Amino acid sequence: MKFHVRSRGDHDSNILSQRIRNYLEEFELQPDEEEPDIVISVGGDGTLLEAFHQYTHRLDHTAFVGVHTGHLGFYADWKPDEVEKLVIHIAKTPFKIVEYPLLEVIIRHTNEEPEDRYLALNECTVKTKVGSLVMDVEIKGDLFETFRGDGLCLSTPSGSTAYNKALGGAILHPSLPCIQMAEMASINNRVYRTVGSPLVLPQHHTCLLKPRYHDEFQVTVDHYTLSEPEMKSIQCRVADERVRFARFRPFPFWKRVKESFI
Ligand code: NAD
Repeated sequence: MKFHVRSRGDHDSNILSQRIRNYLEEFELQPDEEEPDIVISVGGDGTLLEAFHQYTHRLDHTAFVGVHTGHLGFYADWKPDEVEKLVIHIAKTPFKIVEYPLLEVIIRHTNEEPEDRYLALNECTVKTKVGSLVMDVEIKGDLFETFRGDGLCLSTPSGSTAYNKALGGAILHPSLPCIQMAEMASINNRVYRTVGSPLVLPQHHTCLLKPRYHDEFQVTVDHYTLSEPEMKSIQCRVADERVRFARFRPFPFWKRVKESFI
């Protein structure tokens, strides 16, 4: 089996990553950054997000597991003192795969630039650089509302515990193939009206966000921030691809929610 260990880059994560590499090589597993079967991220959830984005072109062939060197992460759920156990699991047992849904984001432009396609493990957000965001929100081809406010957040079920949660969105179990749209401080008065509640959209219900005015937008996809001066629309839906996590022991989602937040 081929593996890659991705470190957050701080001193503790680098030392732990090297220990994991040494152990895995002692078990005659092969390091291969190009085409790993398993990627072990060492750091926090942000490190796992980076690892995921490094391998979005081969999600069918790469599984992920996260070790946290700070506080318990949502994706990074192995502790540093458990790495020997983890390495033995990786080397000796065929691991179980748990698949989670992803968000597909397609950004189209007002100029000749080709469209850009991204996959998000957590979410995509859109804001303006200055002033309120004014966007038509279409669902399955029909105008649903015109949103005015700070921004919109479209998240995956596993990302529902991240930015989405801070916006009052629901926590969704990642076995549900859906995406959630949450508002950031919508303007609601006699003139402007939005639904005001987070929406959960099933597979194949595409959400299309169309700016009402030419503006410069700030779009985030997980930890990446994009500047979009020529954006015509952002299309979001449940992606065909899924992320695969290697599971070596049961750690049910609701237990993870409880341990992280309660
Ligand atoms: P960061 O260093 O700002 O950390 C963000 C925090 O979010 C960390 O504590 C991380 O453990 C946690 N986190 C990430 N994914 C999570 C998930 N799926 N469930 C629960 N917690 C999660 O940024 P980063 O580490 O580069 O992570 C980027 C993420 O930060 C974005 O995808 C977004 O979800 C999150 N974020 C949250 C807020 C907010 O809650 N107000 C604002 C901006 C970004």
